Amino acid sequence: MRVLLVEDDRMIAEAVRTALQQDGHTVDWIRDGASAAAALDGSGFDIVLLDLGLPKRAGLDVLREARSRGTTAPVIIITARDDVQSRVAGLDSGADDYLVKPFDLDELAARMRSVLRRGAGRGDPVIEHAGIRLNPVTHEVSRSGEPVALSAREFAVLEALLLRPGAILSRAQLEDRLYGWGGEIESNAVEVYVHALRRKLGSDAIRTVRGVGYCVPKR
Ligand code: CA
Repeated sequence: MRVLLVEDDRMIAEAVRTALQQDGHTVDWIRDGASAAAALDGSGFDIVLLDLGLPKRAGLDVLREARSRGTTAPVIIITARDDVQSRVAGLDSGADDYLVKPFDLDELAARMRSVLRRGAGRGDPVIEHAGIRLNPVTHEVSRSGEPVALSAREFAVLEALLLRPGAILSRAQLEDRLYGWGGEIESNAVEVYVHALRRKLGSDAIRTVRGVGYCVPKR
């Protein structure tokens, strides 16, 4: 998943970023409200973790404005403000969940999965499509019941495609998910991962839409 982390506290941000990267996510970190507003504008993020007390612009303002402009990316507020009014204001401003600092990183990861699942209209955490089973909690993948071993990046590509069967993701969108901003991108990385996934899951698992991108066939 591509995660936008908006947090001005360096220690918290680094701890969250490290944990999420170990979990296979790509994390783009920004530290103030004005940059957050800009980043949310062209949001290519799967999920946003938003602190409320930020330099330049308050997190709640940024969230309200992004929602009023039609940004649909799921947002989890991460804040030290634990009073009821702040929670209510956060959720009523368009947040999907609200987590009070200090929080446990495992709980954050679980809430992220829960929010993403609901956003995709699914109750079951396991994604199952055309004989492929992907478990975002354990990172296990199988095809027709047989376990398949994937690298972290192969897993990320497959998960992105499986979340919306039939939807085409361009190479650039997949690169964003794999590397985020400023990551060094090997020129044919996406092709290499897709090739590996086809070898492991079957050549029909991922379809190339020439000149557009890739998708998992809807069936
Ligand atoms: Ca803060």
